[in-house]
Amino acid sequence: KLHNTILELKGNIRVFCRVRPLLSDDGVGNDVKVVSFPTSMEAQGRGIDLSQNGQKHSFTFDKVFVPDNSQEDVFVEISQLVQSALDGYKVCIFAYGQTGSGKTYTMMGNPGLLDQKGLIPRSLEQVFQTKQMLEAQGWKYEMQVSMLEIYNEAIRDLLSANKSTFDASRVETAAKQYTIKHDANGNTYVSDLTIVDVRSSREVSYLLERAAQSRSVGKTQMNEQSSRSHFVFTLRIVGVNESTDQQVQGVLNLIDLAGSERLSKSGSTGDRLKETQAINKSLSSLSDVIFALAKKEEHVPFRNSKLTYLLQPCLGGDSKTLMFVNVSPDPASVGESLCSLRFAARVN
Ligand code: ADP
Ligand code: MG
Repeated sequence: KLHNTILELKGNIRVFCRVRPLLSDDGVGNDVKVVSFPTSMEAQGRGIDLSQNGQKHSFTFDKVFVPDNSQEDVFVEISQLVQSALDGYKVCIFAYGQTGSGKTYTMMGNPGLLDQKGLIPRSLEQVFQTKQMLEAQGWKYEMQVSMLEIYNEAIRDLLSANKSTFDASRVETAAKQYTIKHDANGNTYVSDLTIVDVRSSREVSYLLERAAQSRSVGKTQMNEQSSRSHFVFTLRIVGVNESTDQQVQGVLNLIDLAGSERLSKSGSTGDRLKETQAINKSLSSLSDVIFALAKKEEHVPFRNSKLTYLLQPCLGGDSKTLMFVNVSPDPASVGESLCSLRFAARVN
C-alpha cells in the first residue's frame, strides 16, 4: 500500500461529531446553554456534553468538531481516509443528522467560497492531485463518477441525460429499474445508472452542479425533497502500474443522508408519512449494519434497505467507514441532537 492510515490501527469504523455554529434564525434569545462543547482551545477533544431539563448527557466520539472549526480543520482529519481510496480501499463517508444540522455544509459546503468548500470538492481536488503525482511514478488511473439519490426506497439517477427521470410525476412509471447487483469481486452495478469517466476535479465539479440541478427540480415538486432523500456520490478508481504489475481498485462513496428528524415532529400524514417511514427504515438499517459490522456479527442485515444493499461491498470487509454526526446548537433542537448523538454512539 502506498499510504498507511491511522484508521487501520483501530478498526474500520469511525464517528466524528460536528457542532455547527448558532445561526441568526436559530431559537436564540434565551440564556440556556444547551450544548456545552469543548472551548475552541480544546477543539481537538473527543467529548460532547448535552444538557436537557437539567440532565447532562455525555458522549465520546473519535473526534468532536466545534463551531469554530473550519472546513479545512475537518478535511485535515479525513484526507488520509480519502487517500486510501487511491490505495485500493473502499471508503464510505456519511453525514447524519436532522435537517439544518450542517450535513450538506460538511459534505458540499459553499462551493462558491473557497474556504467554505466541503469535503466532497476538497476530496476530489486531493484525489486528482495525488493521481498526477502517482502518474509520474508509473501509475495509470481511470476514474468514474456516478451520483444517485435514494428517495422512498427508489433510486434516481442524478446524471441521466434524460430530464424526464427527474420529473417527480413520472417516477412511478419510469421504466428504469436501477437494479443493484454485486459481483464476486465486490463491484457494484446499478442497471441503467449513468457512469461518467472523469479526468479532472473540474469535470467532477461540473457533474456535481448538474446533479444539484436535478435534485432541485425534484425539490420544487416534492416538498424539500433533497432533505428527504439520501445523496450518494461514488468515485471508482482503477489504478495500474505497468512497470511493477500492480493493480488497485478503490471506491470513494460520499453520502449526504436524509434528515434524521423523528416522525412525531414532522406530524406526518399521507405521502409525508411514507417518506418518513422510508427514511426511518433506511437510517435504522444503516445503524444496524454498522453496529453488526463493529461487533463482528456473523449476520449483517445489508438487504434491509436500498442504501445498505447498494453500499454493501463498501461497508464490510477491509473497507473504511466514517460517519459524521452533525448537530445543531439551537436550544430548540436539543431533543433531535440527543437522538442523533445516541444514534452515533451506538455505531461508535
Ligand atoms: P443540512 O444539510 O443538515 O440540512 P445544512 O448543511 O444545509 O444542513 O446547514 C444548515 C445551515 O447552516 C446552512 O445555512 C449552512 O450554511 C449553515 N451551516 C451548517 N454548518 C455550518 C458551519 N460549520 N459553519 C457555518 N455555517 C454552517
Ligand atoms: Mg442538506
